[in-house]
Amino acid sequence: MKISQRVQNIAPSATIAMATKAKQMVKDGQDVISFALGEPDFPTPAHICEAADAAMAAGHTKYTAASGTDRLKNAIAAATERDLGLATKSTEVAISNGAKHTLTNVFATLLDPGDHVVLPAPYWVSYAELIGLFGGTWTEVAGSAERDFVPEISAIEAAITDKTVAILFNSPNNPSGAVWDPEVIEALADLAVRRDITIISDEIYKHIMYDGRKHASPAQYGDEARKRTLIVDGVAKTYAMTGWRIGWLVGPEDFVKATGKLQSQMTSCPNTIAMEAAADALDASQDCVEEMRAEFAKRRDLIVGLLNDIPGVECRTPGGAFYAFPDVSSYYGKTVGGCEITGSLAMCEYLLTNALISTVPGDAFGTDDFIRLSFACSDDEIIEGCKRLKDALAK
Ligand SMILES: *Cc1c(COP(=O)(O)O)cnc(C)c1O
Repeated sequence: MKISQRVQNIAPSATIAMATKAKQMVKDGQDVISFALGEPDFPTPAHICEAADAAMAAGHTKYTAASGTDRLKNAIAAATERDLGLATKSTEVAISNGAKHTLTNVFATLLDPGDHVVLPAPYWVSYAELIGLFGGTWTEVAGSAERDFVPEISAIEAAITDKTVAILFNSPNNPSGAVWDPEVIEALADLAVRRDITIISDEIYKHIMYDGRKHASPAQYGDEARKRTLIVDGVAKTYAMTGWRIGWLVGPEDFVKATGKLQSQMTSCPNTIAMEAAADALDASQDCVEEMRAEFAKRRDLIVGLLNDIPGVECRTPGGAFYAFPDVSSYYGKTVGGCEITGSLAMCEYLLTNALISTVPGDAFGTDDFIRLSFACSDDEIIEGCKRLKDALAK
C-alpha cells in the first residue's frame, strides 16, 4: 500500500526495537530487569479509579465539547492557580488525549512549513518528530553535563533565526532529570518577550521534584511572558495515570481556541470517563502525589549512589522526574566478545543481551554519551540491576 512521504519521513523510534527485543526475552522466560519504562510503576490511586466507576454509573459516557468538559477545565484552571499562582480562565484551557496529543495540537497550530524551533538538548525525541511532521525545522542547543544540561541563554539566542517561532522548554527534563533554576527560566522568558517568540513549556514532571526544589514556569515572569507561553501538562506522570490519556494546554485564549477547532475535526473530545476521573484527581487531596514523590526520591538516592560506585560511570543527581542519566562514554570504543561498543545504542544492546537489563540509549535524545535508566521500579530491581550493570561493564 502507498505510504505518504510525510509518514515515511518519521524516524522509527530507536528505542522500539530494543523494547520489542526485551519483551521477547521476557516472553522466552529470561529474567530481564527493565530500566526503560517511561511511566510510574505505581497503580493509579484508588480514589481516582473509584471516580471513574462513579462517572460511568452517573452516565458520563457521551461526547462532550471537543476541547473537553467545563468541569475538568475549571479543575485545571484552579490547579494552575494553585501550583503557579496564575489566575486562569477555563477558556484558556484545552484538554486532549494525553500531553503528547496536546503537543501534537500545539505544533500543528503553531507551525507553518519552514518555521523553526529551538530545541535544548537532551530532549524528548517526539518533539523533533512532531516538528518535522508539520514541516518545521529545528536547531538543537546542547547544555553540558557540568551545567546540568541547561544551555546558556546566549546559546539559545544565537540559535534564533528570522524563521524561529518557538523555543521548547522541559523542566524537569526527560531524559536528564535536570531542573532549570528560576533565574535561568526568567532569562528565557525575557528572551522570548524581547524576540517575540513562543515558549512551549512541557511541565509534565512539575510535581516530581526533589530536595525541596519548586517548579517554575516561564509563564510566571510577567504578563508579556505569559502571553507567549504555552503550558503543556497532564495526569500521566503526576497521578500514575499514563493509560488514561488526559493531557492539557494552558495558554492564550485565541491559540487555545484554535487547537480546539483542530481537535473538533481530528479526534473530538477526550475520553469522558477519564476526564471525570482526572477532575477528581486534581480536586481531591494531593497526598498521593507527595507519597509517590517521596518514594521516587528514595529510589533516586539509591540508584545514583549505585551508579556512581561503578568505575567509569558518572551520574549527576537529577533534580526531578524519575530518570538517572549516567555518562557511560568512557566505555565506548572498547570491545567485548568480538563486539565493539561504538556508542549508546551498542551499549544498550550489550546490556540487554549480556546483563539482562533494558535501558534507553542517549542517542535517542540527542546525547550519545549517556544512557537513561528509569527508577520507576522497586528497590530490589534497582540493586540487582545495578549489580548486573557493574559486572557487565567490568568485562
Ligand atoms: C511522558 C511524557 C509526555 C507525554 O505524556 P502523556 O500525557 O502520556 O501523553 C510528554 N512529555 C514528556 C517529556 C514526557 O516524558
